[in-house]
Order: sequence, then C-alpha cells, then structure tokens
Amino acid sequence: MKVAVIGSGAMGCLYGGYLARLGVDVWLYDVWPEHVRAMNDLGLTIVDQDGEHVIPVKATLDVAEIGIADLVIIFVKSTQTARAVEQVRDCIGPATLVLTLQNGLGNIEAIAAHVDSERVLAGVTSQGCTLLGPGKIRHAGVGKTHIGPVAGTAPAGMEEVVRIFNEAGLETEVSHNAVGMIWTKLVTNVGVNALTAITGLQNGDLLKYPELVEIMDAAVSEVEQVAAAKGIMLEVDNPKEHVHSVCRATAANRSSMLQDVSNRRQTEIVSINGAIVREAERLNINVPYNRVLANLVKVIEKTY
Ligand code: NAD
Repeated sequence: MKVAVIGSGAMGCLYGGYLARLGVDVWLYDVWPEHVRAMNDLGLTIVDQDGEHVIPVKATLDVAEIGIADLVIIFVKSTQTARAVEQVRDCIGPATLVLTLQNGLGNIEAIAAHVDSERVLAGVTSQGCTLLGPGKIRHAGVGKTHIGPVAGTAPAGMEEVVRIFNEAGLETEVSHNAVGMIWTKLVTNVGVNALTAITGLQNGDLLKYPELVEIMDAAVSEVEQVAAAKGIMLEVDNPKEHVHSVCRATAANRSSMLQDVSNRRQTEIVSINGAIVREAERLNINVPYNRVLANLVKVIEKTY
C-alpha cells in the first residue's frame, strides 16, 4: 500500500512515521522546506516516554514525486484543507481512499469537492503530538483512532487501512458514526479551545471560574442544538459534563488554540466555533456565545 501524508506536521509525522517503521511505502508531503530536508537527511525523530526514535522516511515538497497513492491522509490544519486537497489531486486516482482525522468541521466537504464521497474516510484520534522543530516531534499522548465511511457503506480497502494502522501500533477501530464522532470531539473543542486562547488558562483552570463555566456550558448547548437540528448523533449523553470531564482529565494541557495564539499563528477558530456560527445561520438558530467566542479569537489573530 502506498500512503501519502499531506501536511506532515506533528500528527502527519506520527501516523506517517509509525507506518514507515512498519515497512509501508509512505511519502510525507509538506510545504516547509527545512522540515522536509531534515527528515530526508537525518530521518524523522519521534520523542516519547521511552526516549528518541529515529525513523528513515521519504519526505517531499513536490507531489509529482509521489504519484498515485492508495491512501491519502490529510493532516494539515483544517484552515488549509481545501488548498492542500487541490494541490495533491495528482496523487488521487480512481481507487484512492482519502482519510481525514483533523479537528473541526468542513474537512470532509473540502475533500469531497475533489473525491467521490464513497472513497472519503473520516474519524477522530485521541493521539497527541507536538512539533519540536524540523524533523522532530513529541508523541505526548497515546489514544485510540476511530475511522469510518462518510457515505454509508464502507469502501473496499477500509478494513486494510484499519489493519495496517493497528499493525503499526496505532490502535484503530471502525466507527459507523464517524460524523457523530467528529461532532462529539467538536463539542470539546468548542467548549475549551477559544476560552483557553482568550484567557491564557490551562484546560483544568477553566473550571475554577464560574463565569467561564457559564460561557462554556452555553456554547456547548448551542452545539447540541445545531447537531440535533442536523440529525447528528453525538456519542455522549451529557455533552456539558463530558467537556468538564475532559477539562479535568487534561487539566495541565495548554490547548492547541492557546499554543497557536501564544505563537501568533493562525488558529482553527473558523472550523470550530466559527463553523457552528455558519451551520446555525443556515438553520436559523441563534448561537450568540459561539459568535462572540469566534469573533474574539479572530480579533486576537488580527492583532498579531
Ligand atoms: P501542525 O501544524 O503540526 O502540522 C500541519 C502541517 O501542515 C505543517 O507541517 C505545515 O507546514 C503543513 N502544511 C500547511 N499547509 C500545507 C499545505 N498546503 N500542503 C501541505 N502541507 C501543509 O498541525 P497538527 O498538530 O499536526 O494538526 C493537524 C490536524 O490534526 C489539525 O486539524 C489538528 O486540530 C488535528 N489534531 C491534532 C492533534 C495534536 O495533538 N497535534 C490531535 C488531534 C487532532
């Protein structure tokens, strides 16, 4: 199986590195020249609790080198998905499967603009990674991956993808509610990311302030309303309590959005709270908390 990872940052390198270590034919595509050079010259270094592991990989800045892949994994930030899929159209043949495990909404639609939706796989991952520098990532948290079809029936080849992920050490299960799982993860991102980015607080500290819990719960309620109107089945019974429990379980974490604003990088706000605002507008639902959170983070980005 030939695998092309599109966006080989923290997560792309984790999945691509684990598959390459198994002997799968993996290409890591990225637009960052120093990173691609470092991986080709020195290998990919994955730092985890057992130490540093160097994995020889093939990285490229040029999609023409890759050719048609059997599996394309999109791991750019969700704001870049449409552009990235457009760039890599030459890697996508009539039987290629395209997988997204990104956070936020809009990724499936951006992929399906170029690929028959029957060959689009989507899901969520509880793995956690950070990019340490060119050619080097830290694998900070181990967790399950869930993958499923977005168009009803599972495409030929999906089981094989799940099999090689598991064989590579990336524990993976099939989900028949991939879109519901993405929305369930979105619930947490809606409740946590913008509030941490605006306040500078770690996840667990949000719960210490009743004023923030009020905003968190209201924003999560709005997602529940929009999801219900769209007929999306969330995977948790009590989304507000679920978000509180994630805050407790990840108390010392600085969310990705807080890290993004601290480093003056573009955030994924338009795919998280911003996406809820857009979905709600289409459905004539009022989501003032998500609108305010999205606008505040957009203003933080404008002040960089
Ligand atoms: P990242 O910023 O580390 O990596 C993104 C990579 O994409 C970068 O190396 C960047 O150079 C590259 N890129 C940007 N534009 C590109 C383009 N047009 N074509 C090719 N490459 C391009 O991001 P990440 O942390 O790996 O996150 C990727 C996705 O996974 C996000 O949606 C994120 O929310 C999600 N996610 C991340 C984690 C995590 O722990 N990091 C966990 C779960 C989900």
